[in-house]
Amino acid sequence: MAGSRPIRTPKELLAQHLIQEDQVAAITDVAKRYALSITPAMRSRIVELDDPVARQFVPTEDELTSLPEEREDPIGDDPFTPVKGVTHRYPDRVLLKPVLVCPVYCRFCFRREVVGPGDSMLKESQLAAALDYIRSHPEIWEVIFTGGDPFIMSPDRLRPILRALDGIEHVKVIRFHTRVPVVDPDRVTEDLVEALTMDTPVWVVVHTNHSQEIGDGARRALRLLAGSGIPLVSQTVLLKGVNDTPEALEDLFRTLIVNRVKPYYLHHGDLAVGTSHFRTTIKEGQALARSLRGRVSGLCQPTYVLDIPGGHGKVPIGPTYLNGNGTVTDPWGIAHTYPPKTTED
Ligand SMILES: *Cc1c(COP(=O)(O)O)cnc(C)c1O
Ligand code: SF4
Repeated sequence: MAGSRPIRTPKELLAQHLIQEDQVAAITDVAKRYALSITPAMRSRIVELDDPVARQFVPTEDELTSLPEEREDPIGDDPFTPVKGVTHRYPDRVLLKPVLVCPVYCRFCFRREVVGPGDSMLKESQLAAALDYIRSHPEIWEVIFTGGDPFIMSPDRLRPILRALDGIEHVKVIRFHTRVPVVDPDRVTEDLVEALTMDTPVWVVVHTNHSQEIGDGARRALRLLAGSGIPLVSQTVLLKGVNDTPEALEDLFRTLIVNRVKPYYLHHGDLAVGTSHFRTTIKEGQALARSLRGRVSGLCQPTYVLDIPGGHGKVPIGPTYLNGNGTVTDPWGIAHTYPPKTTED
């Protein structure tokens, strides 16, 4: 039975039969370190223990294992933070993080050291400073709301921030990164859509990792957003044991396209502390991306990317089809000389 409130404690996990009695002590240690929340919508998508939805949200003892290469700031945001709540790494766009809370806490989160309940919302004065920073940097073309999950803010709290950005001449695009339409779809309301509607176009990047997450509520939320003229794209993290098969990825990307969401990025797992059980190798990721090419509509193909640790940015990591020896490999794995010899086809 999914309740009407999120699951937030190991005791509630036990009561909901998501963990066993003998796991409570270890999971309590995990929950002390990393925030825990499972929304009713996501609880209702869990069919059995260890399924692709459960694995993303139910804590495990594996999270207490950390490897030397793992980092507290895996993608290196800290050095690029000119004012609190703003990350400015690429000249033409900034991240704006007004809140550091989420409706669910993903066990593989790359910001797991900073997200969670507590003092995690920008104060009025900090928000004003962030907007001033954006206002005084004419090279900022795009403002990207992330967090935390920015759609956890009520439309009434979002509206003034959005109207302020709408008034900045050089800000041409506003983008939201959010898991809300999938994990807490009731938050997507007409009122939210109204708050998002202004002269400056708003794009929404929906974070989702498995088609099993996408229920009727999510379909309705996506339809409402798309129907309001908000372009939707998606971001997925490649996760061992969750979506690291050709079938799982194919099913997810087809489901997204059918729901008017264009797959944008497939992220290689970041080196966040205590997440090694979720990471594939890049080689495995490339083989998965290759398996989709030629078999699945081009609309369903995201770009496989790596966020280089240390704040060096995101880059596509293949696979590549152009070979060093003057040949190009077709979607079925056969190499062809390019340009073709005149005697050949
Ligand atoms: C990921 C990221 C962006 C957005 O990158 P896109 O490739 O435009 O999606 C912007 N700023 C920072 C700091 C990022 O990490
Ligand atoms: S929704 Fe995003 S920021 Fe929040 S816990 Fe999940 S991965 Fe982290």
